[in-house]
Amino acid sequence: MTTTPKHTSWIEIKSCALKNNLEIFRNIIGKNTSLGVVLKSNAYGHGLVDVLSILHDKVDLIHVISPEDALFIRGYEKKNNLSPKRILVLGSIDKNHLYDMMENNIELVLYGSEFLSLFENINTKQKFQIHLHIDTGLGREGLKVSQIDNEMICLEKIFDKVEIKGIMSHFANTEDVTDQTYAKEQLGVFNETVIKLQKKYPGLANIEKHFAASAATMLLPESRFDSVRIGISLYGLWASSETKVSYNVLSKELPDLQPVMSWKTKSQTVKKLEPGSFIGYGRSYKCECPTRIAVLPVGYFDGYPRILGNKAHVLVEGQRCPVIGRIMMNHIVIDITNVTNDNRQITVTLLGEDHGEKITAEMIAEWSSTINYEVVTRIGAHLPRILRTD
Ligand SMILES: *Cc1c(COP(=O)(O)O)cnc(C)c1O
Repeated sequence: MTTTPKHTSWIEIKSCALKNNLEIFRNIIGKNTSLGVVLKSNAYGHGLVDVLSILHDKVDLIHVISPEDALFIRGYEKKNNLSPKRILVLGSIDKNHLYDMMENNIELVLYGSEFLSLFENINTKQKFQIHLHIDTGLGREGLKVSQIDNEMICLEKIFDKVEIKGIMSHFANTEDVTDQTYAKEQLGVFNETVIKLQKKYPGLANIEKHFAASAATMLLPESRFDSVRIGISLYGLWASSETKVSYNVLSKELPDLQPVMSWKTKSQTVKKLEPGSFIGYGRSYKCECPTRIAVLPVGYFDGYPRILGNKAHVLVEGQRCPVIGRIMMNHIVIDITNVTNDNRQITVTLLGEDHGEKITAEMIAEWSSTINYEVVTRIGAHLPRILRTD
C-alpha cells in the first residue's frame, strides 16, 4: 500500500469499488443508453484526479458544474495522452469562459435567459454545442415550460452561434419518496415539451435526451433516454433509504453498490487522564473513570461536522470508540480506554470499514442531521487522496 501521511487525515479511494459500481450501472442501463458520470464537487469529495484515473476510459460522458473543472479534465487528458471524452458543464458560466469552452469542445447547458446574453458580440467559426435545460418542476435552473415559445424565439437569434445538441431536465424528489407520481408528471411535461419543440424545429428530430440521476436511473426505466447522469451511486452510496426500499420492490435483488471512500487518520497523541478531567472546548465532556484518550489531527476544517461532538463513533482495530468533547477546528478526541493498554500511536477509521465493522456516510449523516451527499462532498479537497488498487 502507498505510504500514508502521518500529520493529517487522508482519504482512501477503492478502485475496485468504483469499477464495480460502474459495471452495475452499465448493466442497469443496457447497450442503448450512454453512461454519463457526474464528477462535480471534486467528484463528490472523492478527488477529481483519482476518480478520473480510474474511470476515464470506462464512461461515455462526463458532467461537471464548473467550466474550470471541464478545462482541468481536458488538461488531464492531454497530459496523459487520453482521447477526449464528451464533457458537459451543468452549471453557470462566465462570458470569459466561452472561447475556452469552444476551443476545447466542451458542451454547455442553457440554464436561463441570462445564458443567451453571453453570446452578444461573440463571433466564432465553430458553433457552441448546447443542451437546453427544461425546468419540469424542480424550480431550479432551466427554461420554464410556460415560456418556452418566447425563450425559443430569443434563442433563434443566436442559432448561427449554437448547435442544440441535447435537451435535459432534473427530478425534484425521486429520492425523497417511494411514490414516483411527481417524477412521472415531470417526465410527462418533458416528453410533451420535446415533441412540441421537434414539431416547430425539425432539426431537433434526433436531439439527445437526458433526465435521470442515480435514483431515477434505478427506479424509472422510462427516464433513462439517451444517457444518464450518475452521481452519488457511482461512489457506492444509495441516493436515499427510500430509493433502496423502492428498488427492492421492483427487483428482488439489490445491486451491490460498494462505497468507494474511507477516511482515516493516525493519532497525534495518546494519553491517560484521571477521573474528573475535562475534554476540549467548553468542557463538554468529563471523564468519570480513568480514560485513555487519543487526539486526532482532524477537525471541522477538514469537513468532520462540528455537530458530531459527543455523538459520533470512529473505529480503532475494528472496535467502536466514542468521539468525546467538541469537534475542534483541527482536532477531535476519542476514548480508546477499551481498545488499548498503552500509549502507542493508533490508526483510526472515521468513515469506512475496519475488521468488518463499519462507519457509513449514512451513519454520519444521521448523527449530523444531513444526507450522505453532504457528508462526502464536504470533506476537504486539501486532504490527500490515496488510490487503493488492492
Ligand atoms: C448532481 C446532479 C446529478 C447527479 O445526481 P445524483 O443524485 O448524485 O446521481 C444529475 N443531474 C444534475 C443536473 C445534477 O445537478
